[in-house]
Amino acid sequence: MDLTEEQLRLDTLCVRAGYAPGEHNNAVAVPIFQTAAFNAVDTARQKRVFAFEETAFGYARSANPNAAVLEKRVCALDGAVSAVATCSGMSAVTYALLNAAEGGRILTTYSLYGGTVDSFKKVYPRHGVGVDLVENINDLEALERAVRPDTKAVFVESVSNPNAEVADLEGIAGVAHAHGIPLIVDNTIPTPYLEQPIRFGADVVVYSVTKALNGHGNAIGGLVLESGRFDWSAPKFPQFHEKLYTLRDRQGRERSVLEVFPQAPFVSRIRTLLLPFYGATLGAFEASLVLIGLETLSARLEKQTRNAERVIGFLENHPRVSWVKHPAAKDSPFHALAKKYLPRGAGGIFTFGVAGTEEQRDRFIDSLRLFSFHANIGDVRSLVTNSPRSTHRELSLNEQALAHLPPESIRLSIGLEDPCDLIADLSQALNRAFEERTAANCCSHSYTQEQKHA
Ligand SMILES: *Cc1c(COP(=O)(O)O)cnc(C)c1O
Repeated sequence: MDLTEEQLRLDTLCVRAGYAPGEHNNAVAVPIFQTAAFNAVDTARQKRVFAFEETAFGYARSANPNAAVLEKRVCALDGAVSAVATCSGMSAVTYALLNAAEGGRILTTYSLYGGTVDSFKKVYPRHGVGVDLVENINDLEALERAVRPDTKAVFVESVSNPNAEVADLEGIAGVAHAHGIPLIVDNTIPTPYLEQPIRFGADVVVYSVTKALNGHGNAIGGLVLESGRFDWSAPKFPQFHEKLYTLRDRQGRERSVLEVFPQAPFVSRIRTLLLPFYGATLGAFEASLVLIGLETLSARLEKQTRNAERVIGFLENHPRVSWVKHPAAKDSPFHALAKKYLPRGAGGIFTFGVAGTEEQRDRFIDSLRLFSFHANIGDVRSLVTNSPRSTHRELSLNEQALAHLPPESIRLSIGLEDPCDLIADLSQALNRAFEERTAANCCSHSYTQEQKHA
């Protein structure tokens, strides 16, 4: 069967794209290619491959067939032209930013995954890359004012970790493109099921596939994808014009990334330069786990989103909960942006504030029986963490304030359990934390507006 992927819809692509069983002994599931290297076959073929006239797997630090299926599949989901898999979300973010911003600056904001914000202090300045942060990335005038002559990338999370703030991608892309700068979007939380950033002007999309793309909490991995639309040949990006000995043709003439890979220079530069030297390759087994997880992406994300909306409805009306940050919350400032960018909902990850003392919040977490207490998201199991002291603990109090993360913040990642069980668990834990005895079954109560104001 020859799948012309452009005509297929997302649910179909999740289980089919990027894999042709006929090329693999008709194996229905993608076999695991657990090998470090691939035969060069003969010297004539070796010459063609080394001159980039033919693509073939060689040494698995640069590519392996399982990662390749994953790359093609997510490209199909996101409408990208090329992708490269890496061994973690952090390596995907770091490679993407270093690849774009060499010798220049990154423009971004604080409302990001904690590790990413921390890397802006600890990694980039030491590699000669500056970072400028604006407080509200959706304030397009402030963003415009923060662009400097040597700004080389704007970086944002489409839906931010942990507060589920929605980025105005079209507006932000407009500012970036007016200055000849690419927009790099971390789309880890929504996944292509809820949002496809390239449709809204993103030039590069990165993922931690550890999270909802895989969804089973059993592998660490990342992806960088390229839209194929950005003009990397502009003088602002000399790295793509640089003649490289490793890219020489058969006559020994050195060539640039743009000459050899004109369709996908961004991802190709990561694959031929950063991946071989820094070596953060996604292994075949990890890629294979992620491919299995990806098959159920739509079903999982749909239910997780609906479950989260039920849990949010409960929390919003609980007297010990001071606020809930998610576009589905009644008083969220992101209703309009979510309607535009996330028509299927904003996913299952959000924060809420538990009033009271730190001791009471600790008791709340320690009293949860169903929620797992750890720093992952997008899992089929529901998870809880105290983000200011875990996923974002590297941030100073001032940076946490700039990231809209007060000390009382608790993050939930809602899984596939029955929402009544999740609500009952949260309810009994809140009761224990505050030594109260309110009734706690979502299936026998309706949590209405009146209850909150009662
Ligand atoms: C977890 C996360 C990362 C880092 O990914 P790892 O796979 O843990 O390295 C990057 N961005 C976001 C939004 C994340 O949630």
